[in-house]
Amino acid sequence: MPKFAYFGGKFVPIEEAKISIMTHAFNYGTGAFEGIRAYWNDEEKQLFVFRMQEHYHRLYQSCRILKIRLDHSVEKLCDITCDLLRKEGYKEDTYIRPVAYKASEGIGVRLHDLEDGFCIFAVTFGRYLEKEEGARAAVSSWRRVDDNAAPARAKITGIYVNSALSKTEVVERGYDEAIVLTQDGHVSEGSAENIFLVRDGVLITPAPFENILEGITRKTIMEIAREEFGIETVERQIDRSELYIADEVFFCGTGVQVAAVIEIDGRPVGDGKIGPICKKLRNLYFEIARGKVDKYKHWCTPVY
Ligand code: PMP
Repeated sequence: MPKFAYFGGKFVPIEEAKISIMTHAFNYGTGAFEGIRAYWNDEEKQLFVFRMQEHYHRLYQSCRILKIRLDHSVEKLCDITCDLLRKEGYKEDTYIRPVAYKASEGIGVRLHDLEDGFCIFAVTFGRYLEKEEGARAAVSSWRRVDDNAAPARAKITGIYVNSALSKTEVVERGYDEAIVLTQDGHVSEGSAENIFLVRDGVLITPAPFENILEGITRKTIMEIAREEFGIETVERQIDRSELYIADEVFFCGTGVQVAAVIEIDGRPVGDGKIGPICKKLRNLYFEIARGKVDKYKHWCTPVY
């Protein structure tokens, strides 16, 4: 349990960071948020926040779409986040949750003429998916929201009803994670993570127009695959049946990190074990995120 939150422009004890039942965002899902990880590096006795600027930059973009005004610059938000982590004194892996939201109290669906609120809390956090080395996935019958209905490129609280419906559907059927298709039946992403396929040594991932969240881990994976292993990524439309014939499939995201998918809809992926490309990308991802690779240390902000 965290001890503090940043709320109403200052740090307060977590018990005091409360909103009214009449809050607009609570009633209508009009909030934008981020999920950011900080990794503890035991050799350096240092906590590193991974790609924090990029996350706050995306929060800005989500807020533009929702007409939410953020009072602080990206740099200031990064400083506040580090201050919060220092106040908590965390010396283990942490998950940071900033939320910008429509804070007015009262009835009336809209985005205009409302007050904006902002808060951050941070919790210690391990795995999001228990079976990161071999998750079993199923295609959900729920389709991904379309950009012209609710823009998935923005990380909007209300849109996560779409994720929750798909996740629960497949978990209740005994799977670990959901794969969600677009309205026209092509692969979009996982319930809360992006997806990659490997076919003939090439990475394939849905393009942003497939109603994905433009993931920061996705970008990281594409960058390190090319730079460190000479593996190119093709961003294109992916048929559902390609999931069944891919050599490897994996999810990636801040929460899920890099998780191998070893079974989809009752069919083994490849030989039903974590594949070699996923394995080496996953290992390198953790080294980089934990601040152990000098070349990528600029992605890691030290807290202490
Ligand atoms: N898609 C969805 C729907 C997500 O919720 C997330 C997690 N933020 C991602 C993809 C991965 O994005 P990122 O790598 O920026 O965490």
